[in-house]
Amino acid sequence: MNSNEIDIHKELKKYFGFSQFKGLQEQVIKSILNQENTFVIMPTGGGKSLCYQLPALVQEGTAIVVSPLIALMKNQVDAIRSLSSENGVAHVLNSSLTKTEITQVKKDITSGLTKLLYVAPESLTKEEYVSFLKNVTISFVAIDEAHCISEWGHDFRPEYRNLKHIIKQLGDVPIIGLTATATPKVQEDILKNLDMSDATTFKASFNRPNLYYEVRTKTKNIESDIIRFIKQHKGKSGIIYCLSRKKVEAIAEVLQVNGISAVPYHAGLDAKTRAKHQDMFLMEDVDVVVATIAFGMGIDKPDVRFVIHHDIPKSLESYYQETGRAGRDGGEGHCLAYYSYKDVEKLEKFMSGKPVAEQEIGFALLQEVVAYAETSMSRRRFLLHYFGEEFDDVNGDGADMDDNIRNPKTKVEAIDQVVQ
Ligand code: ADP
Ligand code: MG
Repeated sequence: MNSNEIDIHKELKKYFGFSQFKGLQEQVIKSILNQENTFVIMPTGGGKSLCYQLPALVQEGTAIVVSPLIALMKNQVDAIRSLSSENGVAHVLNSSLTKTEITQVKKDITSGLTKLLYVAPESLTKEEYVSFLKNVTISFVAIDEAHCISEWGHDFRPEYRNLKHIIKQLGDVPIIGLTATATPKVQEDILKNLDMSDATTFKASFNRPNLYYEVRTKTKNIESDIIRFIKQHKGKSGIIYCLSRKKVEAIAEVLQVNGISAVPYHAGLDAKTRAKHQDMFLMEDVDVVVATIAFGMGIDKPDVRFVIHHDIPKSLESYYQETGRAGRDGGEGHCLAYYSYKDVEKLEKFMSGKPVAEQEIGFALLQEVVAYAETSMSRRRFLLHYFGEEFDDVNGDGADMDDNIRNPKTKVEAIDQVVQ
């Protein structure tokens, strides 16, 4: 099938109810419909899912979607089913299915009913599934969260390394890689490991012009500084990230004592408490959630007005993801990070127990965070450059939205900060 034969605008309206494509979606979809290997780099929330869902729905055969998280796969399958009158249009294939369920899934695929089959990478290595998939019509294989294939990404999954080998057994099917990780190193790794250097690449801008970036030197007055900041943003929603669970608890308590409605969130809390605290934040029963990085994946609260990093993150990638939760609605989003070289040493110490190769990567990523924190140039320009994107810090969109541009440091101040 060729992209010229399908009215994709009509299909967009019919299946998803949208009247316009977002960003590069249209071009990506055309590339997929033309059976090309396609590589999609778009920030979180950019609308990557639709890029493979729409072509899957309008093409013959079943598209295989590889995704690392079972919860996310279930969400997507439910969403697709609600767009169609047939339950069998989308399925998840994983180890939790009963024999009867597996039989049904296979039947729906064979009959051509199933357009999207979601699989975890480890399920795809099962011989039983592979030999079944070899004998049915596959439209393409989409690999979501493709950065999981790279050790330079923030979420390396060794199972992703087997994917190419398995896909080859399925015959000559197009591959679509999708990620929100924009560093050139990770991109290179993805193309290499999926053996798709011929892929047509679509990369959206990672600039978030409405986010204000600020770094403050971390002193012993950090708690009163944070309290003051929050009181200046009274009634607004915000997230405070801390490195340790202990710190999360401590800061949440300090805020509460100071009359700020805040709840803690970390993986040490039981599932019920976590769900409760997350809901309280989403429903605006509390203003602030103090959290470890366990919080935020898939959280879609449009009006988060500030994201504070009590401790520096382990990479700029994480920093971008975490601050990216602010200002989703296009409104104000203040991203404040506290920086002290002591924290860098702490993180380095954490890493010293890890295998050497991992350590080296960890140190290199951390050095970029240090450079970001210590820079006196445009922070937006620094961040975007890290993602392989050139930013004009005079005329670019959001150019004045950082502390270094609004209040340029004198040389002496800059040196002072570094030695502190
Ligand atoms: P990503 O995977 O890139 O983080 P998603 O695929 O989860 O992003 O999409 C983010 C949001 O954008 C979803 O709520 C989705 O419904 C919405 N969306 C996607 N495409 C469009 C479109 N063309 N018009 C309006 N909303 C869209
Ligand atoms: Mg996604």
